[in-house]
Amino acid sequence: MLSDVISKDKTQAFLFCNEAIVRGALESDVKVVAFYPGSPVSEILDTFYQISNDFDIKMEIATNEKVALEIVAGASMGGQRSLIAMKSVGLNVASDTFFSLGYTGVNKGCVLVFADDPFCHSSQSEEDGRFFASNSYIPMLEPTDPVEAKRMTKAAFDISEKFQTIVLVRTTTRINHQSTVVPLEPLNRTEFRKASFREFNRKYATVGLKARAFKLKMLERRERIREDFEESEFNTIIEGTANIGVIVSGVSYNYVREVSNKLEINPPILKLGTTYPLPKNLISSFIKDLEGVIVVEELSPYLEIQLKAIAKDSNPNLKVYGKESGHFSEAFEYNIPIVFNVFKEIYKIETPIDYDAIVSRADELKSILPVRIPVFCPGCPHRATFWALQKAVTGKSNQIALINDIGCYSMLLLNSEIYPKLHGDDLMLSMGATLGSGSGISLAANEKVISVIGDSTFFHAGLPGMINICHHNENVIVIVLDNSVTAMTGQQTNPGTGYSPPNNPKNKIQIEDVLKGIGFKNIIINDCFDAKNCIPSFKKALEEPGPTVIISRGPCALWNDRRKRTRGEKIQPFYVDQDVCRKCHTCMKDFYCPAISMDSQEKQYTDENGKLWQGFSSYISPELCDGCGVCSILCPYTNHENRSEKDVIKFHEKQREVRHDL
Ligand code: SF4
Ligand code: SF4
Repeated sequence: MLSDVISKDKTQAFLFCNEAIVRGALESDVKVVAFYPGSPVSEILDTFYQISNDFDIKMEIATNEKVALEIVAGASMGGQRSLIAMKSVGLNVASDTFFSLGYTGVNKGCVLVFADDPFCHSSQSEEDGRFFASNSYIPMLEPTDPVEAKRMTKAAFDISEKFQTIVLVRTTTRINHQSTVVPLEPLNRTEFRKASFREFNRKYATVGLKARAFKLKMLERRERIREDFEESEFNTIIEGTANIGVIVSGVSYNYVREVSNKLEINPPILKLGTTYPLPKNLISSFIKDLEGVIVVEELSPYLEIQLKAIAKDSNPNLKVYGKESGHFSEAFEYNIPIVFNVFKEIYKIETPIDYDAIVSRADELKSILPVRIPVFCPGCPHRATFWALQKAVTGKSNQIALINDIGCYSMLLLNSEIYPKLHGDDLMLSMGATLGSGSGISLAANEKVISVIGDSTFFHAGLPGMINICHHNENVIVIVLDNSVTAMTGQQTNPGTGYSPPNNPKNKIQIEDVLKGIGFKNIIINDCFDAKNCIPSFKKALEEPGPTVIISRGPCALWNDRRKRTRGEKIQPFYVDQDVCRKCHTCMKDFYCPAISMDSQEKQYTDENGKLWQGFSSYISPELCDGCGVCSILCPYTNHENRSEKDVIKFHEKQREVRHDL
């Protein structure tokens, strides 16, 4: 709870891990934070969003992770403690600056929390970011739970200042999303005072000669950090009796402890919390008298490979059980059954617990549940846009190549049965990649290219691709889905929202102004909820050569509803007049809004021509409907241009509001 994160009196609190990280940063007197949102660390941003004013913390939601990293690095160089959090693929974006920071170092404590996402819960790739640490010579800590996450965040600030380097705190999704009771220490906040960049008299410019000097210093720094890490409180040996030990880090430690209890074994365990640089002496002494070691780590054999190099000197006969021995996979997350089965085999334990049977029974039960794919929310602007686009490409769907990007609209790839003509699962790479790959396809292939991108992604990584399209006059249609907010990660602000945390007005960057400034001549702005009237502009763009940009504008339904509730406004649902509904179900079959279902009772209606309509009328759930009105546009028996009592789908109470300034 937020009140616990900022509590001055409590000595402990039940905290979500991302909250524990914020608490650790607060206790460390952090002064500047910057982010680009991304799951599973978005709540770190969201928590700071709510408290930064009260704690006089300078906070920015930056255009992307690279800019955010540059902000916190600059703040550290300028004399303030700073923190940033990002997801693993965000570190890819930030990596150019990240590697330079390994060379230049920083000044005041600077901490980068990054989260890998084994199993790709919310990412396009399953990466092992630990190699960023070893490749950049930047020290890394890995917590196993929220208690350690808070302690490590605090320690990271101290390590950063001691060695004048940015420090990584690496988590994974299952760590970020744990909650537990976390001990709290005093906040000890100091007043924010501007420092002096010049006063510190340090140089951070790296290239050529300077870079070579930095490289040598960086290697020397790594050895000093390694010596420190040999004694670190975060590396723990749990004594045991077996002659096969376990080396583990991160979330896997929890699985190892639980499995050891279940199997009633007592292996010696080396739990590593400082995973770059590795404490080689500690590892050597742990393995020297062992017959074998099981390395339990998700993703790549990062520890395993380094362990084998260490074992060559200290215990050449050590048998290493891990990924290279075939005991563990490099793919996906681990869990209790996976670790249990490996331990059972290696320690040769007879046990009545049969996880294979439990897992197969769970799979059996799961198979009888209906498959539920993620769908767009009721009132989602993307549903309206894709509906109109699908109508526009009808008859031409084999002559288009639609390229998607990262955002809520990525869900198009899971909805190919609803939008079969759009081929939404053809191509989607990474933030902003729809533009460059669209250019490439337009150069290589005959199809008309449609590149789809969201507003936040447009600002994040879209601008270079847009400039490239305009500069080369590519034959690409770019559809910018402007839902006014960074919706997918929790409705954070972006340069198009016109304000930034904590609700401070900022310069609003209009996408169309940016496009005009770039030099695009053909820019169309659609109200996506006026869905039928959007079709001609899509059709026209398909006929014309050269770049066309269509801004499909309409606010995120959840964000808009939330703002209405905050303002005390009612959300006005639509309803189906079931006495006159013709039961054709165009509204359902054509649009798939989750708020529309069928009524439970059959009804009859005889129209003015004497035609009898019989069956189950459509029904709109008022608690789900957001009042976007698109179903009333699609219903063949509703006149949305000139609404009247004869309509089938009607407003509740008042006229549809103007949803967005066009
Ligand atoms: S609400 Fe309109 S579109 Fe839906 S079933 Fe009734 S008549 Fe058909
Ligand atoms: S107005 Fe119609 S389309 Fe819009 S949310 Fe309500 S039921 Fe769905």
